[in-house]
Amino acid sequence: MATSDLRTWRIDTRDFTGRGREESRILGGECFDRLGEDAHVVGAVEATIATVRSPRGKAGIRLSIVAALEAQCQRCMQPVRLPVATEENIEFAATVDGFADDGLDQWDTLEHDGRFDVLQLVEDVLLLALPVAPKHEQCEPQGATYAGEKVLPFAALAGWKGGR
Ligand SMILES: [Zn+2]
Repeated sequence: MATSDLRTWRIDTRDFTGRGREESRILGGECFDRLGEDAHVVGAVEATIATVRSPRGKAGIRLSIVAALEAQCQRCMQPVRLPVATEENIEFAATVDGFADDGLDQWDTLEHDGRFDVLQLVEDVLLLALPVAPKHEQCEPQGATYAGEKVLPFAALAGWKGGR
């Protein structure tokens, strides 16, 4: 693969699904410009697309993503890790008009595309996985860690009682 292709991941959807193909990639954070300042990828994103058949009998792909994002907690302003493990199902059709909304929410219908941008789809999914206001489930009390050692929660609580 040429170096210039590293930030490109496109498939011909007819060809890909016609051959029943499957493809996996490890994508670095540099592939996802649209995450912007709000979040960044920790390590790399593992993405797999596999040919599947939709409940309507159409050729489609299932995109599976495993990743971790890091954003700023809106409560304590410290970094918060957001694990992402998700699947997207997409079926392809010659024209999208032919599909009524029949309640198959788990499936998006897109037109067949000779240069379908998988990377953009992965980024869309990551953006959707990002909460509007990321927060720790439970924020670490400020000053609860020192010298790289973690203070036991009970000790920290006792400290608070005495300190205030
Ligand atoms: Zn927090």
